[in-house]
Amino acid sequence: MKQFSTWQVLKNGFINQKGWKRQWEDAAPKKNYDIIIVGGGLHGLATAYYLAKNFKLKNIAVLEKNWIGGGNAGRNTTIIRSNYMLKGNREFYEHSLKLWENLSHELNYNVMFSQRSHVSLYHSPSAIDNASRRYNIMLNTGSDAELWSLKTLKKKIPHLNYSDDSRFPIYGALVQKRAGTARHDAVAWGYARAANNLGVDIIQNCEVNGVITKNNNIVSLNTSKGNIQGGKVGFAVAGHSSILWQMANLGNLPIESHKLQAFVTEPIKPLLDQVVVFSVGGAHFYISQSDKGGLVFGGDIDWYKSYAQKGNLPIVQDVAECAISVLPCISRLKLLRHWSGVVDMSMDGSFFICKTPLNNLYLNAGWNYGGFKASPASGWYFADLIANDRPNRVIQNHNLKRFEKGYQIDERGAGPDPKLHG
Ligand SMILES: Cc1cc2nc3c(=O)[nH]c(=O)nc-3n(C[C@H](O)[C@H](O)[C@H](O)COP(=O)(O)OP(=O)(O)OC[C@H]3O[C@@H](n4cnc5c(N)ncnc54)[C@H](O)[C@@H]3O)c2cc1C
Repeated sequence: MKQFSTWQVLKNGFINQKGWKRQWEDAAPKKNYDIIIVGGGLHGLATAYYLAKNFKLKNIAVLEKNWIGGGNAGRNTTIIRSNYMLKGNREFYEHSLKLWENLSHELNYNVMFSQRSHVSLYHSPSAIDNASRRYNIMLNTGSDAELWSLKTLKKKIPHLNYSDDSRFPIYGALVQKRAGTARHDAVAWGYARAANNLGVDIIQNCEVNGVITKNNNIVSLNTSKGNIQGGKVGFAVAGHSSILWQMANLGNLPIESHKLQAFVTEPIKPLLDQVVVFSVGGAHFYISQSDKGGLVFGGDIDWYKSYAQKGNLPIVQDVAECAISVLPCISRLKLLRHWSGVVDMSMDGSFFICKTPLNNLYLNAGWNYGGFKASPASGWYFADLIANDRPNRVIQNHNLKRFEKGYQIDERGAGPDPKLHG
């Protein structure tokens, strides 16, 4: 693989871009791997990369049923932040943000991470108290946070809806300046390229459709490209986690698969420098502007469980209403596209990186709305779990047993309703 460098860019400018090679090889599956990761989204690819890089492990494959990055990896609104409060989540997401800050260099691939600030609006005096609590925890645990008064907010983002008679008047905002957005498909390609460079086989169009077990171990996986044996197996299939889990005869996971839609408008001149989040009562809305000028936004999950990667019209209306109530100036813009992904909603809104009832099976799932920002740390800690066969201290409570013991990690305090864990 050629390293990207100023010299290579210059040289290829002179030779009609003919000097570039394929970024990663499409491998044919071998009969046997030491480690198989199922799912070629961000989490699967990042895991394979860190297994090879941090632990110098070889003979690893990533099996992807479609094309890499074709799932939620390439469908999300790309918001990255680490404004978490609870033990475990806090350290995990801050570690992820730190990995993001160096990711383009680490992968030698421009993931276009733009630290443009994440601005969470608040709409009542009690919300100011909540935001202040989160702000203090963030500052005291080594992250960055600011509280913006209404005056500051008006100066920074003048075109929000500040009218006094709006349904939810704006009082101010909790801001994380190191937060921002990145180019999602570049992250998938960057991890794939870097993992492949370290010897990982990336096998696309390879669907796992059966799990063969013996004596509490996975012996092999039936796939659309034949039977493949694996010493250790990691599931990182996001919205399809329950399906794989049932293939392994493990019963039900505390996860529901829901559709989440995203939207982009026609491109316009620069309007919004930050990521803005509006979340109050039942309303949930987040918006940023892409480098091409389109406004990218989303809201809540659709109101029923599904594996279909297309959304319903009531949510289009709901999200459009939120958009207009926060940014009335965009009411005449045309929507260019909207699409949907299948998100793996857990019952307390937190993820699972854990061992499973099978000795050589490891689970990475339960990312809800928020797995894009998590992907570097998710790969990092999942690789650590698989390589060492024990959870790191930071993620030790992010397991399936937490529901048996009553130690849910409920960041929002929303209870077992996936819709409320936005
Ligand atoms: C519309 C939308 C907006 C979002 N916005 C944000 C955001 O702003 N910020 C944020 O942090 N997060 C966001 N998310 C969440 C984030 O995208 C996901 O949590 C994250 O991408 C999930 O991890 P992944 O990338 O590995 O999943 P995926 O990309 O879904 O990867 C799983 C892969 O497994 C493959 N697979 C499934 N079954 C099999 C099988 N049987 N055999 C082989 N392969 C299989 C799938 O084809 C898929 O490619 C959003 C999600 C959506 C849908």
